[in-house]
Amino acid sequence: MTHKVHARIDGPLVMIGFGSIGRGTLPLIERHFDYDRESFTVIEPSDEYATLLSDRGIRHVQIGLTKENYRSVLSSLFRDGRGMVVNLSVDVGSVDMMILCQELGVLYIDTVIEPWPGFYFGSSIPNADRTNYPLREEVRDLGKRYPGGPTSITCCGANPGMVSWLLKEALLRLANDTGHPVEVPKTRDGWARLMQSLGVKGVHVAERDTQVSARPKPVGTFVNTWSVDGLLSEGYQPAELGWGSHEKKLPPNGHGFDFGSRCAIWIDRPGADTRVRSWCPGVGPQFGYVVTHNEAISISDYYTVGEGARPEFRPTCHYAYHPCNDAILSLHEINGAGQLPINKHILTQEEIVSGGDDLGVFLYGHAKGGMWYGSRLSIDEARRLAPYQNATGMQVTSAVMAAMVWAVENPRAGFVEADEMDHVRCLEVQRPYLGRIEAHYTDWTPVAHRINSFAEDVDHDDPWQFTNFLAV
Ligand code: NAD
Repeated sequence: MTHKVHARIDGPLVMIGFGSIGRGTLPLIERHFDYDRESFTVIEPSDEYATLLSDRGIRHVQIGLTKENYRSVLSSLFRDGRGMVVNLSVDVGSVDMMILCQELGVLYIDTVIEPWPGFYFGSSIPNADRTNYPLREEVRDLGKRYPGGPTSITCCGANPGMVSWLLKEALLRLANDTGHPVEVPKTRDGWARLMQSLGVKGVHVAERDTQVSARPKPVGTFVNTWSVDGLLSEGYQPAELGWGSHEKKLPPNGHGFDFGSRCAIWIDRPGADTRVRSWCPGVGPQFGYVVTHNEAISISDYYTVGEGARPEFRPTCHYAYHPCNDAILSLHEINGAGQLPINKHILTQEEIVSGGDDLGVFLYGHAKGGMWYGSRLSIDEARRLAPYQNATGMQVTSAVMAAMVWAVENPRAGFVEADEMDHVRCLEVQRPYLGRIEAHYTDWTPVAHRINSFAEDVDHDDPWQFTNFLAV
């Protein structure tokens, strides 16, 4: 099969981290980029998958980046202001990577704003400061120092990342389906006003991972379909969400921020133990976890009309994540035990016998009630599409690949988030790897179903209040 080469990477290509996402991104780079193989380096402390690299003649620097060594290691790989860093690691401080890439004059992409070790666990940092809001504010402020600098794309995998592009398609589709077709907005304000005009009150990044292995999860092993460390890190940050202008009251233990755009709030409990009612195709109504994610904040910020804590319009936005069954059971185990797992396992393409990943945006409050729009990718399809990854990984790696293409095509865009990129171009590149992109409408609301009646905080006047979604 021949694959379209989308772009050429001039100069060194350096991938940091060769875990589940790094390995899955490798075949997409090989297919869709023209690059010099001898200038391709992977920095990865483990040698578990080293033969994948040596078989291809890709240089493996077997080292873990630290605050002390990252400058010398990376600077030695870039000499003349050309090239690209793709950071797909855990425990490597993204902000330092971004600053160094500006200094070196090279393009940069990551999928999460990762701090150096010591932030997520066993830290004396107050919970308010252990949220994503200050991490994002720091990166946004940093970006102001490098206008027109080498493109530095932060938080661009599937989510955060691709879901921001799907949201734009979803809004255009909703406008069309409600009888108000519009020209594609050209500015941030135009997109925000489109969302406002459609009556959207909020957006869930609604995901259902149905991938299962034939082997029951061993007790004491944390099993997931992507980084266990990544899920644990974000899952035990406080829950966090973009806070809509229609919300009447904060949730229990909810707090605002007193700096920056004030577009988000945090809840003083772990996201991986904070459930919301949500909706996905295939299953319909379901529980998801409000695991903190950059897109929850960036989407609420991007679609704001007006400013500050009380803007004219702002959508609520948060992740509503139903991970694979084994991860649900794993979370249940560690929440009960009150201890992080010792054994960790990521399900491979070979182990998974059925299921897939439905990942999209659920827009609610508009004339048609609820609309889910997103990618439905089965494990069988993922297996056919590319090696070394399951359906979840495929949605992430293809977004990384699209971001790499966009960075090459827009090399002096400075600091950007997925919301600020050309969603048409990015989805054009990514779409062949996303399975079916579907739109589903539903009349479900978070007050629609209850098994027996209990003393719950329900707002019947406005079904779309966050308090109605929150199940805890
Ligand atoms: P993984 O745990 O499978 O792999 C992470 C890799 O980083 C490992 O191979 C590890 O050895 C390496 N690493 C650890 N410390 C390092 C260091 N100091 N220097 C260099 N490498 C180091 O994780 P993954 O599933 O591949 O995910 C990678 C990253 O992508 C994580 O940060 C995760 O949160 C993020 N992610 C984002 C999305 C998204 O949609 N935005 C989705 C999935 C994963």
